[in-house]
Amino acid sequence: MEKLPIIIAGGGIGGLASAIGLAQKGLASIVLEKSAQLGEIGAGIQLGPNAFHAFDALGVGDAARKMAVYIDNLRLMDALSGDEIARIPLGDDFRNRFKNPYAVVHRGDLHRVFQDACKASELVEIKTSTEVVNYQQDGAGVTVIMKNGKRVKGCALIGADGLWSKVRKQIIGDGAPLVSGHTTYRSVIPYDLMPEDLRWNAATLWAGPKCHIVHYPLSDWKSFNLVVTYHNDAPKPVAGLPVSHEEVRKGFEHVAPIAQQIIERGKDWKLWVLCDRDPIMNWVEGRVALLGDAAHPMMQYLAQGACMAMEDAVVLSEAMEAYSGNIEQALQAYQTRRRLRTARVQLQSREVGQHIYHPDGAHAALRNQIMGTKTAEDWFEVMSWLYDGLEQ
Ligand SMILES: Cc1cc2nc3c(=O)[nH]c(=O)nc-3n(C[C@H](O)[C@H](O)[C@H](O)COP(=O)(O)OP(=O)(O)OC[C@H]3O[C@@H](n4cnc5c(N)ncnc54)[C@H](O)[C@@H]3O)c2cc1C
Repeated sequence: MEKLPIIIAGGGIGGLASAIGLAQKGLASIVLEKSAQLGEIGAGIQLGPNAFHAFDALGVGDAARKMAVYIDNLRLMDALSGDEIARIPLGDDFRNRFKNPYAVVHRGDLHRVFQDACKASELVEIKTSTEVVNYQQDGAGVTVIMKNGKRVKGCALIGADGLWSKVRKQIIGDGAPLVSGHTTYRSVIPYDLMPEDLRWNAATLWAGPKCHIVHYPLSDWKSFNLVVTYHNDAPKPVAGLPVSHEEVRKGFEHVAPIAQQIIERGKDWKLWVLCDRDPIMNWVEGRVALLGDAAHPMMQYLAQGACMAMEDAVVLSEAMEAYSGNIEQALQAYQTRRRLRTARVQLQSREVGQHIYHPDGAHAALRNQIMGTKTAEDWFEVMSWLYDGLEQ
């Protein structure tokens, strides 16, 4: 591999996971992050067993396992009747089947695992307050141009700069992401505020017509993460805007009192108008490639965006090692191994929203009938393509 470092645009989960994956293979990188400080919003994130396969491959398995809350079940509830539709046990049988647990974590804790690993590595340099706007490349390398006019030269550029990626704009130029018309509201509440009869050791999803509610414990059970979503046909993308309780309540007036009381406990709500993109077959141009949300932004309905970004980082670093000396081939190999798996997650995330989380009437009754009769083994089979991780 050449002497110049690999430049990574974006210090989110995907960017830092890539830096640490490359360092494990002996490859130096510079992470350019536009924010003044590295970090993540104060909310939770779910991690399927495939995320733990990725942690291990990236050499941060022990640190990642320490900060997780291990839940007993995934529960699907009917938000109109208040009844349970399905329950997927995450105990020994699940762990033996997928060789790893299912867990929930605070985003800040997860990001810190990668930050700490990057800081401990001599092969990773992180520059904050550094926004990438553009790049130029020739056969010998890539010159990355920053907003302040400065330039940095690398042997490759990885665009891990998220949903609104500048690198994507240049490689693909496919305009703004697609606005779904679904709006998500997030809140983290202290343990004591959660209604006592709902302090479940589960990631729970209440599915209702055009809406759903998710909650799970966080940070050693000190708090609960609330993520609630409804269709309001919001026309424009918005991220992280503070919003009134009344606006959140409006989307859930039709659900059962037990589900409504979860909304009532939320405070300091912030909203995200959800966006994704259609999958694409090419996200590589010469020595430049996309990774994470920049490459394959998806609805969060399978809780897999960050998991996919970490898997990308594993595959990228393996390809860079396997094709050492030929970056263009390495990036092609990375893309070939990732594009259909991530396309499947993008498309199925949309489908899950439409057919499982948000239907009404006969469609919802059919969902309840089909999902309510599945055994744990059936569920493991349904999820194996995703949770088995990379190697199938
Ligand atoms: C409501 C919600 C719930 C979710 N729940 C889950 C879940 O449970 N499990 C899961 O796996 N995923 C979940 N996701 C998805 C997950 O959050 C994302 O897929 C993941 O964070 C993407 O990581 P990334 O590093 O690719 O992008 P980002 O996290 O967007 O990071 C991009 C980074 O690049 C920086 N940047 C942007 N532009 C530039 C530039 N021009 N120059 C330099 N830096 C730049 C940004 O500041 C940021 O730090 C959820 C998403 C949402 C919206």
